Amino acid sequence: MTTPPGEGSEGARRGGDAGRPAEGDPGSLGVEPGTVLDGPRDLGLTTTYVGRVVHYSRSVGSTSTELKALAREGAVAGTVVLAEEQTGGRGRSGRTWYSPEGLGVWMSVLLECDLPAERLAPLSIAAAISVADALRELTGIDVRVKWPNDLLIGDRKLAGFLVESIQTAGERVESAVLGVGLNVGLDENDLPAELAGAATSLRLALGRPVARLEVLRVTLLALEGCFERYERGGIGGFRERWRELSSTLGREVTVAPGAANTELGPRVTGIVTDLAESGALIIRDASGADREIWFGDITLRHTEDRGVYDD
Ligand code: ATP
Repeated sequence: MTTPPGEGSEGARRGGDAGRPAEGDPGSLGVEPGTVLDGPRDLGLTTTYVGRVVHYSRSVGSTSTELKALAREGAVAGTVVLAEEQTGGRGRSGRTWYSPEGLGVWMSVLLECDLPAERLAPLSIAAAISVADALRELTGIDVRVKWPNDLLIGDRKLAGFLVESIQTAGERVESAVLGVGLNVGLDENDLPAELAGAATSLRLALGRPVARLEVLRVTLLALEGCFERYERGGIGGFRERWRELSSTLGREVTVAPGAANTELGPRVTGIVTDLAESGALIIRDASGADREIWFGDITLRHTEDRGVYDD
């Protein structure tokens, strides 16, 4: 991550135009890590500003942590930190995101915005919907969204999104980082025991390797469109698509609440009825009352066609 775009990325290119993957190596991005890339030129991105600058490393702790440091040094909106491997990839509530070398799209995108603080978290829902659509189109796989921040194929997790604010002014967020962990090339034996049966990848779902560069391109293009739509209209414009792509709508779930949900008691069980205008999940409990869920872990209950149970 030492060379500015335009000064070394040309030399870093390994072959092919616009960074096409080397023949027979679908995992290759066509460039060597360790450089700062010009996304459109070096990776063939078709975005306007997202990925104009891509800090591409072999290994980082967390791409979001790296990007926050770059933001403090004045990185431009749309800057991406992309790594072949994360040694400390993060999920919600301090959970870890497993990010083995060369097998996924592990990256973070810098967003400049002007959003009320409470509108930041639902951005991960909008991102999930947008990337789900891009991947559906690219692969034909029935990629679904799971509130609030996951992509699933069947019951197995394909990707996660984590949005964190960087700079705030009063109650408004001025810049944020969106972290993306998307499993592309993992095979069953690449998964650690704790994720076996719970995680999947595009390769596993398709039964053949997938060009990681194509996945990167469509993901960044989808995120750029998502940011623009989200800034204009918030989550409202995504609700209809959420209903179509939700893995839980109309199904019975249990919510194990996080700290922000403690007024709901230790667990809530009910039928998912909608996504609120605010981005909260709406669940109808046994008494027929609609409860808004802002935070928590959603587990499907008593499913007949899928295999996830919480008790
Ligand atoms: P969940 O949906 O599992 O209840 P979550 O949405 O809060 O949890 P995140 O915080 O987004 O999940 O992601 C962290 C969790 O995802 C980890 O605790 C682990 O169970 C799972 N995980 C970690 N790495 C991967 C991966 N590469 N692919 C799929 N799942 C993963």
